[in-house]
Amino acid sequence: KGTLMAGKRGLVMGVANNHSLAWGIAAACAAQGAEVAFTYQGETLERRVRPLAASIGSDVLLPCDVTDEASMDAAFATIGEKWGKLDFLVHAIGFADKQFLRGRYLDTPREAFLQALDISCYSFVAVAQRAVPLMSPGGSLLTLSYIGAERVTPHYNVMGVAKAALEASVRYMAVDLGGAGIRVNAISAGPIKTLAASGIGDFRYILKWNQYNSPLKRNVTIEDVGGAGLYLLSDLASGVTGEVHHVDSGYHVVGMKSVDAPDI
Ligand code: NAD
Repeated sequence: KGTLMAGKRGLVMGVANNHSLAWGIAAACAAQGAEVAFTYQGETLERRVRPLAASIGSDVLLPCDVTDEASMDAAFATIGEKWGKLDFLVHAIGFADKQFLRGRYLDTPREAFLQALDISCYSFVAVAQRAVPLMSPGGSLLTLSYIGAERVTPHYNVMGVAKAALEASVRYMAVDLGGAGIRVNAISAGPIKTLAASGIGDFRYILKWNQYNSPLKRNVTIEDVGGAGLYLLSDLASGVTGEVHHVDSGYHVVGMKSVDAPDI
């Protein structure tokens, strides 16, 4: 077991199961000595998260729905009482009605737009408002994005717009919090088969496309995301803030289909 995160305490929001990107990051931090607390959305997910938390020696599990102010207040009040401080926070939360994660972006209704932006973008601001008072210089906030924020990817639609807003939020929050020595970054992860991803149309095609056309010729894993998350949350990244760091097998540098990519 390493000691890179020894003495650090972090809250990880967004573990649904052992495929979750948040779980990859939590496990990587715990393996380096971090103490990790978790929030979960609803009782069904609690049953999935509890044994995972236990496997890394954590019993701090709190319900938290980011659409509910009181639920966020309660979760952070408990963290404040238990720990009195927080060194890092992982926000791995996103949602859009899957009915609109296919077809045309143009057809997105107002309610679906507002819900996607609320849960996938504003919630990072909302949790940061509560986390920052518990943080001191050296604190680190991390969220998760996708290349659909920068360029059009099939079916991502309103989530692409939400992730663009989230990435802009990272930059604004980095400036707001830089003076306090608190860093704010995002990982833009390549596609990974998770519960959230299953809502996206033709996801298997997207996985294959990235595998065949990325420089590394493979898809990323939650361990890849975990390693990069560990770096950004640790003091190794002490000079890094406002960054959107791609963990996508290099896919974001590619401008055309690979000449040796097989047909999908
Ligand atoms: P996941 O389904 O494992 O995690 C999504 C999490 O969001 C779940 O734990 C869910 O409970 C939580 N959530 C949704 N609505 C919530 C609410 N109202 N309150 C509290 N929690 C809520 O899927 P994942 O792919 O690990 O997603 C984590 C993050 O990574 C998301 O922001 C997602 O957009 C991002 N991401 C995923 C991929 C991918 O291909 N899987 C790629 C890039 C970025």
